[in-house]
Amino acid sequence: MKKYNETSQDGHVCLECGDELGYGRADRKFCSDACRNRFHNRHVQSSRQFKQKVNLALDRNYDILDSIRKTSLKSIEVADLENMGFRKDYFTSYVKRSTKELYMCYDIKYAIFHGRVTSISKMETF
Ligand SMILES: [Zn+2]
Repeated sequence: MKKYNETSQDGHVCLECGDELGYGRADRKFCSDACRNRFHNRHVQSSRQFKQKVNLALDRNYDILDSIRKTSLKSIEVADLENMGFRKDYFTSYVKRSTKELYMCYDIKYAIFHGRVTSISKMETF
């Protein structure tokens, strides 16, 4: 059951505004519903922005990989891709096979071997 404090929660302050929490439930974190809502909205907002950033990076990687895939290049330096805006640390899946690191960006497969991106191919998706 919920615990109630008979006395003021000394040293306990609202996570949003920093005001003293005063009397109330021992596990209270906010002084008011308004503060609770503001706190949660901000956290939802920041994780939404983070997801947006990741999705944008993946989208850009996808377009870059797809444009290289359509050329006759067999491989390309990771650094060259990075100059085009590629972010090596963003991918949708990863498998390590002996010395090769196999990545996927949605339905595009590629390997990174000795600092070069190789074997860019598109998966059959139907
Ligand atoms: Zn507050």
